[in-house]
Amino acid sequence: MAPLFPALTRTPERTALQFGDHRMTYGALAAAANGLARRIGAAQRVAVWATSSPETVIAVVAALLAGVPAVPLNPKSGETELGHILTDSAPAHILAAPSVQLPTALAEIDRIDVDRNPANTFASDALEPDDGAAAALIVYTSGTTGPPKGAVLPRRAIAATLDGLADVWEWTADDVLVHGLPLFHVHGLILGALGPLRRGGTVRHLGRFSTDGVTRELSSGATMLFGVPTMYHRIAEELPGDPALVKALSTARLLVSGSAALPVHDHQRITTATGRRVVERYGMTETLMNTSVCLDAPPVAGTVGHPLPGVELRLVDDADTEITGEVPDSVGEIQVRGPNLFSEYLNRPDATAAAFTGDGWFRTGDMAVRGTDGSIRIVGRRATDLIKSGGYKIGAGEIENALLEHPAVAEAAVTGEPDDDLGERIVAWIVPADPQAPPSAAELADHVARRLAPHKRPRVVHFIPAMPRNDMGKIRKRDLHG
Ligand code: ATP
Ligand code: MG
Repeated sequence: MAPLFPALTRTPERTALQFGDHRMTYGALAAAANGLARRIGAAQRVAVWATSSPETVIAVVAALLAGVPAVPLNPKSGETELGHILTDSAPAHILAAPSVQLPTALAEIDRIDVDRNPANTFASDALEPDDGAAAALIVYTSGTTGPPKGAVLPRRAIAATLDGLADVWEWTADDVLVHGLPLFHVHGLILGALGPLRRGGTVRHLGRFSTDGVTRELSSGATMLFGVPTMYHRIAEELPGDPALVKALSTARLLVSGSAALPVHDHQRITTATGRRVVERYGMTETLMNTSVCLDAPPVAGTVGHPLPGVELRLVDDADTEITGEVPDSVGEIQVRGPNLFSEYLNRPDATAAAFTGDGWFRTGDMAVRGTDGSIRIVGRRATDLIKSGGYKIGAGEIENALLEHPAVAEAAVTGEPDDDLGERIVAWIVPADPQAPPSAAELADHVARRLAPHKRPRVVHFIPAMPRNDMGKIRKRDLHG
């Protein structure tokens, strides 16, 4: 396999990274990563203390050059989660910025400080292995539905996903990405950090997401923004009172959302205010990216577009039989195959075997329908978002979208709970816009029944002060009933 980051040697003078005032060229990144790669040597696995810093990017690039699988760790993970990941992945070293104080859970692991300013330079292509099947990164899933699992990602999966996105998004070395995501999941690390580096472009990391940071960067040369739906929600809320943000977004080349469904209401508010669409893409830790909306597709909210180049995608029924075009609007599980896939869950042969069909399709657990133009609309996760009520299969997402259109609703989640008559009944969890004046349950039920259909109205409404979310802003539905 060709080197993952040709720009390290080809365009050493160009800017690779900017974190606040700290700017790093490809030449400086190559020097730092090569120096560190030699210190890593031939370990079985290394962990990276993935703060939002240049050191994290240097450490991950170094591990990729050294051919040693890297496990990015969330610096905010709780003791239990950190303990689980450390026991599971057993890293030989922990790579961290010198200023970082590591928690005691890591005290037994050999620490290597990441130096952002080494003086010496080496040729990077001398080090990098060329086996595309070799494990490059082990990324733990978000833990939305259970304890996080370590997805072993081969080098070719990273190359395939980034090149497929580059194709569809016309992503080049001239693009400058505004990045406000953490660096320990696929979205922030592989797409947001390694993506621009593979293209030879620039990452400008905000440290912490803010709409002011987005305005500042998009008004000073940045061309694209990657975000999660909670960020686009903040943007949608602030646009009416912030003309500078409107102007900045309307000049961006590309706005991308992923990691969870972008509420239709937020998408529409952004398009109305800025004239721009948000391109939704759909992916997972295990599969990297599967689909994206194409730049020339009509601006329809609520779809994740078509499979990326090289990705095979099918919708199947409960017996793994493909649902063909003859059955319009039927909901099926998304299964995918292609060079973008992980190779296994670390130490979990049971979970790995259960995740694949006999002929190699990966079961995503996500349910979707296919539009007449072949585009994919995600209905939700099989485990938490598909409610079987009164003989219907109802997706939580469309009810959530309808609830979010109600002016008194700030946040909404929909679940099912057992019901003697209906099998399951629809339950809505609402964070009211004004906690002193929540809407009535009957009003919300009517609102949904008018927009969708009477059987989709929530039977039970709970008002809650805040939505339980993980660090990617995803709603943790299993924490709602608990
Ligand atoms: P775990 O697997 O540990 O329960 P997780 O599934 O949230 O956690 P990730 O791999 O980070 O962990 O997330 C992938 C999931 O996120 C997908 O399976 C899908 O449910 C959801 N997702 C990602 N992008 C989109 C999108 N554009 N629209 C709707 N859902 C999305
Ligand atoms: Mg998952």
